[in-house]
Amino acid sequence: MSDDAMTPETDSAAAPSRCGFVAIVGRPNVGKSTLMNRILGQKISITSRRPQTTRHQVMGVKTVDSAQAVYVDTPGMHIMGKDRNRAINQFMNQAANQALRGVDCVVFIIDRTRWTEEDEIVLKRLASLEVPVILAVNKVDWLKDKKSLLPWLEEVAGKRSFTAILPISAKHGTGVAELEQEVARHLPDSPHYFPSDQITDRSERFLAAELVREKVMRQLGDELPYQMTVEVEQFKDEGKIIHIHALMLVERDGQKKILIGEKGERIKQIGREARLEMERLFNAKVMLKLWVKVKRGWSDDARALKSLGYTFDE
Ligand code: GDP
Ligand code: MG
Repeated sequence: MSDDAMTPETDSAAAPSRCGFVAIVGRPNVGKSTLMNRILGQKISITSRRPQTTRHQVMGVKTVDSAQAVYVDTPGMHIMGKDRNRAINQFMNQAANQALRGVDCVVFIIDRTRWTEEDEIVLKRLASLEVPVILAVNKVDWLKDKKSLLPWLEEVAGKRSFTAILPISAKHGTGVAELEQEVARHLPDSPHYFPSDQITDRSERFLAAELVREKVMRQLGDELPYQMTVEVEQFKDEGKIIHIHALMLVERDGQKKILIGEKGERIKQIGREARLEMERLFNAKVMLKLWVKVKRGWSDDARALKSLGYTFDE
């Protein structure tokens, strides 16, 4: 072998490696998690019509050639709620604020031409940021009068300096490729933080628990505000089949009854839907067992929250 063949390849034509953190922010329910899932092509962040479905910060990694964007889906920033002092609300606000530290770019999502007090609060929180902020005007598929969009885009442009204002539909994918291209422009030169085939920082165990929580949120809506969490007690991957045991914790006996439903119909339905999604996500057969247990006061107690994996970064 000649010396030449031993020299490592130096490909000066290759684009330098780029990588950065991108925070997805916006008031509850504007479509942050939906956008994240759309970008990744996988459901890693649960969604529902209910505000505050997302409780945990979930990272989504998207690598395209030399550029890696690490998206951070934040729990909705909210301050207005009447139970603002509950530990879980404080946790969620803290998590949302933390997500903004050290990011390279922000995607600020709003819902069509609606602008609420909560959007204003998010805007204020972005005021001191010096990184590029892209405004994504989401749910345009739902816009009855498309003509209303143009004057609105001009109006929001006056609210702060945005590097781009893009109408999108996170649900249907419209405009999302353009959004990703805009994000890619703002990623700094840096080695990649994750292997290119990794799509999230969260474990399969965590994703399984979240999927159960999503089905409960979707089925029960307002009947179970906050007072439910899911712990995966067993996650046994046997290759073709994964055995998952998940425990649902509620605060009161009445809530337990609601979750189980008449003749156990409700919990069966929740289990069925969660299992199907898990099979899609993990690409394997899933045997899912669900239990419900009453654990009083968990959502009010910062220590109990910690024991359930809601960690405060102090
Ligand atoms: P988040 O609280 O900001 O994370 O919002 P989610 O992603 O959970 O979405 C809230 C609701 O809006 C869900 O019911 C989504 O299906 C819906 N949604 C999100 N994006 C779109 C969109 O582009 N078009 C329509 N029609 N609905 C959307
Ligand atoms: Mg969300």
